[in-house]
Amino acid sequence: MKIAINGAGIAGPTLAYWLNKYGHDVLLVEQAPELRRGGYVIDFWGVGYDIAEKMGLIPNIKELGYQLKEVRLVDQNGRKNGGFSTDVFNRMTNGRFTSIRRSDLSAAIYGALGEDVETIFGDSITNIEDEEHGLQLSFEHAPPREVDLVVGADGLHSRIRQLAFGPEADYEVPLGYHVAAFNVQGYEPRDELVYVSHAIPGRQASRFSMRGDNTLFLFVFRDEYLPDGHPSNVQECKAVLQHAFADAGWECPQILAAMQDVSDIYFDRVSQIRMDCWTKGRVALVGDAAACVSLLAGEGTGLAMAEAYVLAGELHTASGDFATAFARYEERMMPFLKQKQKSAANFASSFAPKTKAGITFRNLVTKLLRIPPVADFFVGRDLRDDIDIPNYGMAAEG
Ligand SMILES: Cc1cc2nc3c(=O)[nH]c(=O)nc-3n(C[C@H](O)[C@H](O)[C@H](O)COP(=O)(O)OP(=O)(O)OC[C@H]3O[C@@H](n4cnc5c(N)ncnc54)[C@H](O)[C@@H]3O)c2cc1C
Repeated sequence: MKIAINGAGIAGPTLAYWLNKYGHDVLLVEQAPELRRGGYVIDFWGVGYDIAEKMGLIPNIKELGYQLKEVRLVDQNGRKNGGFSTDVFNRMTNGRFTSIRRSDLSAAIYGALGEDVETIFGDSITNIEDEEHGLQLSFEHAPPREVDLVVGADGLHSRIRQLAFGPEADYEVPLGYHVAAFNVQGYEPRDELVYVSHAIPGRQASRFSMRGDNTLFLFVFRDEYLPDGHPSNVQECKAVLQHAFADAGWECPQILAAMQDVSDIYFDRVSQIRMDCWTKGRVALVGDAAACVSLLAGEGTGLAMAEAYVLAGELHTASGDFATAFARYEERMMPFLKQKQKSAANFASSFAPKTKAGITFRNLVTKLLRIPPVADFFVGRDLRDDIDIPNYGMAAEG
């Protein structure tokens, strides 16, 4: 089949990889002029790690990634007041855990694609017309094309979802937080392989020292710290962060000063996408477009890869009967994703607790995570992926 995929982040290239292996004719469409670089760091483990292994990507991912040693929570003076060694994660995942820039993971997956996968950068699908035996796609720039299927892998704010299923507002569930991330060159102090984080009620600022004298900063804050609606440019994002974190203590004044020279800031609502179906006719959604779990799950990339792998595998198994494949894809993945969304939403209050008492309790729990039964109780359930991902018969060729 001819299959077009809108979005070359994580789910898009993973889906392209497997569809191409199964002999389909794949077109990837990405609105950015090239693969996105820089950006935030993600934790990577679980079912996504297993899929990456089937694709032969683990050595590359480990080389590009960071083997974090410690999550360190600090007070307003920078003194440690909580946190844990990442031995906890390593024990629970049998060492199958790494942290990597989202863009490096995306590039690693994209780099594994066969040469016959066509990619159009700097473009987007703008219209989907149902025809008797397929779909006619229109693009922002490229001439129209006919395909058998189209898949939206275009993230939280998916264009394909909007075209085929209706407005984002019908599916987006905001979790009450905003998130901002940016990189600064030459920031000091540095703490290699340590994720350092400081919370005051409703707000959390963190930093992670990366290679190339780069530091990633991540700010998460409750919606009430957003003064007047969603900022529409980098200057407005800076003003919001300045307003929300100027009095937050720790290194915040210094970080906010360093932010003034930054030209690119990731800024968004922390939301989930909750849908009761991910397919409609010849259109399917995958990854954040279908079931964004939000950063609070710490697993969106792995889940996006798993969905892509299963969608491709079911299409392969159903030998062209896409309606059956779509139904099996939803049956297999939807209950699992709904459970992950529920856990992530429950975790929201621990991420940036509303009160001082909440922060104190959270910090205490993190100190106790070195005790295995405590760790199993508080994070074990969320770290486990209770799903059987089939082997569709083409695994492990790398
Ligand atoms: C701050 C932050 C921290 C996170 N931390 C983690 C973590 O620790 N672990 C983890 O696993 N996950 C984490 N996540 C979630 C993770 O990043 C996502 O779940 C994952 O990237 C989803 O992959 P995707 O391919 O579905 O979407 P994306 O990675 O968002 O990719 C979508 C792609 O589609 C493109 N696109 C968008 N619109 C269009 C259009 N109209 N036309 C064409 N192309 C388009 C985009 O440019 C992008 O390349 C985090 C997210 C955030 C925001």
